[in-house]
Amino acid sequence: MKIDSFSKEDGFYPGAFDVPPLFKSPPQPLQMLKWFLFRFMWYQSLLWIGISVVCYHFFTPQITDFRNFDFSALIYLWLRNATVMLLIVGFQHFYLYTHRGQGKDYKYDTRWMARKKRSFTFNDQTKDNMFWSLFSGCGVAALYEALMFYLYANEKIPTVSSLPLTAITTVALFWITGVHFYANHRLLHVRPLYDFAHSLHHRNVNTGPWSGISMHPFEHVLYFSLPLIFIFLPASPFLTTFSMIYLMLSPSPSHSGFHRFKFGQKEVAAADYFHYLHHRYFDCNYGMLLLPIDKWLGTFHNGSYEDHQKIIEKRLDKSGDRK
Ligand SMILES: [Zn+2]
Ligand SMILES: [Zn+2]
Repeated sequence: MKIDSFSKEDGFYPGAFDVPPLFKSPPQPLQMLKWFLFRFMWYQSLLWIGISVVCYHFFTPQITDFRNFDFSALIYLWLRNATVMLLIVGFQHFYLYTHRGQGKDYKYDTRWMARKKRSFTFNDQTKDNMFWSLFSGCGVAALYEALMFYLYANEKIPTVSSLPLTAITTVALFWITGVHFYANHRLLHVRPLYDFAHSLHHRNVNTGPWSGISMHPFEHVLYFSLPLIFIFLPASPFLTTFSMIYLMLSPSPSHSGFHRFKFGQKEVAAADYFHYLHHRYFDCNYGMLLLPIDKWLGTFHNGSYEDHQKIIEKRLDKSGDRK
């Protein structure tokens, strides 16, 4: 077993973080509202909603096109997904890793993307990550969207057209994703599923924007299954498109490897140290910080120096390497 070490000089160390205010004791609902609006929604979540609105209204075939499961409509969705990823994820990769626009400022790991490494498809981390994201990821997402639209077009599932209800469901979906992601991700860490599927995502210890949905097709089938809840929960078909765009794009800044993006004097939040720690240590932080299921189930790593030491000590004990 490889034993990690932790030094604050390794790369950028953002320090410890805490669970959102609602889950502290005592709970702080007002602080939570502030956290949700200004830390969670602004700016990334609003960006995913905005891109989804544009995609749904301008770059999605009519629902009626799916009545007979039109194959060309499915291919269109696939190409739309790949185009959106090339624009949004490609921009981040180009700026951070090709152009190296901010050098290593705010970078958690001092290494760049791996090249000539046999563990990656094509022996190249970026090409590997792009391949699994664009072919399997965008393809599986298109299949789910087409399937849901087929069900809507044939009136097999209920639909809602109210704008306020759609807005409420959009916000609720972030929380639902917290449960859905924790459940499927935790399951994927059980052997043999980990070896068969999830280990492909974990080839990326040092992650980049394209690592976000670089997953085995089996993991994509679980990961993108979120809109199946709309078979039971009446919602606008927009929520299906939003689920797919959100699940495709939101992991790109969170895996970017940079805690903040710097554009000249301007800076905005970027990666998620919570999930970076999952890639570094594998057996902590399985969920999302918005809904800290890890805290309740004892797998929470808060990024503190003490938690780093604890996890390293636990590994030393397990491996029997302690001197
Ligand atoms: Zn990940
Ligand atoms: Zn994992």
